[in-house]
Amino acid sequence: MSIRVRYAPSPTGLQHIGGVRTALFNYFFARANKGKFILRVEDTDRARYSKEALDDLFETMHWLGISWDEGPGVGGDYGPYFQSQRLHVYREHAEKLIQRGEAYYCFCPPERLKRLREEQQKKKESIGYDRFCRDLPQEEVSRKIKEQIPHVIRLKVPLEGETLFYDKLLGEIKKKNRDLPSDPVLLKSDGYPTYHLANVVDDHLMGISHILRAQEWLPSVPIHIHIYRAFGWEPPFFCHVPMVMGKDGQKLSKRHGSTSIREFREQGYLPEALINYISLVGWSYDDSREFFSKEELERLFTLDRLNKAPGVFDYKKLDWFNGQYIRMKDDEELKALVLPYLLKDGLLSNPPTERELKIVDGMIPLVKERLKKLSEISGMVKFLFVEIDQYSKEDIIPKKMNAETTIRVLKEGRKLIEEFPKHTDEENEELIRRKAEEMGMKVGSFMMPIRVAITGSTVSPPLLGSIRLLGTEKAVKRISGVIEVLKKAV
Ligand code: GLU
Repeated sequence: MSIRVRYAPSPTGLQHIGGVRTALFNYFFARANKGKFILRVEDTDRARYSKEALDDLFETMHWLGISWDEGPGVGGDYGPYFQSQRLHVYREHAEKLIQRGEAYYCFCPPERLKRLREEQQKKKESIGYDRFCRDLPQEEVSRKIKEQIPHVIRLKVPLEGETLFYDKLLGEIKKKNRDLPSDPVLLKSDGYPTYHLANVVDDHLMGISHILRAQEWLPSVPIHIHIYRAFGWEPPFFCHVPMVMGKDGQKLSKRHGSTSIREFREQGYLPEALINYISLVGWSYDDSREFFSKEELERLFTLDRLNKAPGVFDYKKLDWFNGQYIRMKDDEELKALVLPYLLKDGLLSNPPTERELKIVDGMIPLVKERLKKLSEISGMVKFLFVEIDQYSKEDIIPKKMNAETTIRVLKEGRKLIEEFPKHTDEENEELIRRKAEEMGMKVGSFMMPIRVAITGSTVSPPLLGSIRLLGTEKAVKRISGVIEVLKKAV
């Protein structure tokens, strides 16, 4: 059987973790089985449609490197791939269901439906359409159509019996027909289809073999099964993957942190890291392997390894992955990746001067091991480009020291640093170690006030390398400045 799968987003919001995971799973499944991956834009909800969301969809897919075999931009034999350009197809199919006795025109005005809902609420009955128009006499229907009374087309859901379908992950699922939404609308009065009709018609006409999507769509399946049956079509295979959850077991949302891919991109996550990590939320290759390139996933993905339990999205784990992928970059690549952040944060001239670029070249090896996301770069290396305008007192005088000892350490440190250019890094390290020992201190404690004076922070890239980039003169000047401030404090 030839595999044809699709990602069918509605452009109503930015692409988020859950959606992109669905896209990736479909894409990998298609690639691994030499099938086709189709992108279909489900843009029939005009009230919620957003051009920004549509642009974001293409940008995100492009940034992640997910290409589609059929869809917007590339075409294909089953287009158009925007549902808003297929309205005639849906009308034709809705009319076909009327002819087959599987659907009916409903002329109930919105006011009647509203009243009905209110009454049901008052009586604490289940809310739903009372099928008022289901059995209208044919003459009445013809007359109302002729009079152009606004109408919708509704599906005739069987009143008895049950609907059964099979989900690859969840097994057999049964639902009593009387518990299904009562005769859902297929075609709205403005000629637009509902999700149910457009989704089923397109999946069938586009030859989709497997529907692989999140479990939030599971409640729609019984209705879809009735639509397939009503047309006399064979439904595709279904596979509904558990939702992406936050660590607290709730559906992943803004409350947990960033969810849109755009935000992750802006913060400096790499596409490789996101793809790798997102693919492991609800899927695994075996019980141990964690690193996968996109190309490997394109070969190794199987539905069998999807997880039945909800996938938990762990931001810390993603940071870890991102750090690992940053370290895999060579210095030139990483430089190209961090430059936009340094420019945006105003640390470099635009275009950067030669001197600035030299500092950037020198700092890349110093920060590579420490960066978890690219946006952290400016905070980490700001001291190399601008003077430190403010020191925090808690930082400058370490917990176990007072102002006097701090001044002593800074003075000794200054002496050593003045001599730095005469020695190699190893020699300097040894000199520092000896000095700390002489003063009865651990090297880390001895270095702390010096680190803060030079970098403005208690955490910084390796200090010796940083001083080399900054220049001895500037480093010494900063230490002297801090000594002066501290002298006033004693
Ligand atoms: N348009 C739906 C969405 O926004 C598609 C759901 C499906 O895959 O059937 O996700």
